[in-house]
Amino acid sequence: MIIPAKCRHMYLDLDRTLFDTHAFMVAVQRASEEVFGEYEVKATALHENYTDFRGRVDKQYYYQLFEHLAHYGIAKELAEERLRLVLKSVDFLYPDARDLLEFIHTQHLDAEILTFGEPLTQNFKYSFIPASHTLPLVSLLSSKGHYIKSQSKQASIIIDDKLITDLPGSCQGILLDRHQAEALVKNQDYWTINDLRIVKEFLL
Ligand SMILES: [Mg+2]
Repeated sequence: MIIPAKCRHMYLDLDRTLFDTHAFMVAVQRASEEVFGEYEVKATALHENYTDFRGRVDKQYYYQLFEHLAHYGIAKELAEERLRLVLKSVDFLYPDARDLLEFIHTQHLDAEILTFGEPLTQNFKYSFIPASHTLPLVSLLSSKGHYIKSQSKQASIIIDDKLITDLPGSCQGILLDRHQAEALVKNQDYWTINDLRIVKEFLL
């Protein structure tokens, strides 16, 4: 197995890479029916109309949770307070994400979470990551490749469940596909992995 030059800095995607966004959406919809009873919010309705509360940049969509709840008359502060109470016991990190974040912390590696999305919603998701596992969060509504180009030129890797096509030469793209049979596949100019624990091979 040939691994590219070891990197110094790491960017990690949030949605569907570290964070189980599908589980979060289902939990939010169910919890909303429970905690916003007086606003007559139904989980099925939230599931059916959530796409009306997405924004779009080029071909990428992002969901605006608090705009969605505001549609039912629920203020952001109340939404956050009540949802947090119900959801705080739920673990939205994937098991391999938890392992990788632990590794990053124990090895004191240089890493940040780089997410495409509306900051209020992304910050709320991020708040469910245990403090012991957090990394700096950067929320963008523009291209990740453009952001990385604007940063230092040191060798880096980015792990994302979507292929990023505008990376600078200093940044190695690693596509996460948990359905892939092989642990590690070398493609033309990016790697594909099926488990975040494999990222350790690219580090140190
Ligand atoms: Mg993602």
